[in-house]
Amino acid sequence: MATKERQCQWPGCSNPAGPAHFVYGRAYCPPHYLSGVELALLEEIRKLEEGQPQSIRFRNLFKRYIEGLLGEKIPPGLAKLTPSQIEGRAHLSHISQDKIEFCIERHGDFIPETYHFQLSIKDREIIQTAWEPHYITVADFAKRFGFTERKVRHLITTGQLKATRASLLQDQWYELMIMSGREYVRKPWDPSNWGFTPRHAYLIPFGEIERFSQSDKLEGKGNRAA
Ligand SMILES: [Zn+2]
Repeated sequence: MATKERQCQWPGCSNPAGPAHFVYGRAYCPPHYLSGVELALLEEIRKLEEGQPQSIRFRNLFKRYIEGLLGEKIPPGLAKLTPSQIEGRAHLSHISQDKIEFCIERHGDFIPETYHFQLSIKDREIIQTAWEPHYITVADFAKRFGFTERKVRHLITTGQLKATRASLLQDQWYELMIMSGREYVRKPWDPSNWGFTPRHAYLIPFGEIERFSQSDKLEGKGNRAA
């Protein structure tokens, strides 16, 4: 049986279509594939309704577009993630014809942190716009308020400041991974996996910064050198 070669459907192009370069029924040559994905993505964006869940087709095109853009320049917050993992874990917001904003929760050092990105359709690039830790260390908290670390630990042990042991958060993350069938993940108690956060260290929820600075004002705890 003679195989009929399909032609790229990008306007004005007469190249043969690539064997795996189909975008929902339209075939493209490899150089026009990303443009084809982009065109279909823009069509899906036009169909999106405010407050409605994103369609499977939209998420699929988002993944394929990410795949096309993640060439040599990968933002640090997306390192070691496949396009499928990014698609599965990204929370999307501010979707327009120009850009899509999204964030992903990660667990570098086993502690949750959120990375924010902007995917510019116009410029065809993904920029990391913010990094948001969920917890801060005693040293960082002390620096922020002009306290000694000893004073911060005192606030924790006397219940004036909320904190948790790093090991608790790390083990919670590990349990979640096991429950979702990912037994192959790094084990937080294995010393070869330790990063910058010691297991016994206190970690302070990020929200405590605001709460504490407000209670500081209310109760007139001005004597920071104490
Ligand atoms: Zn083409």
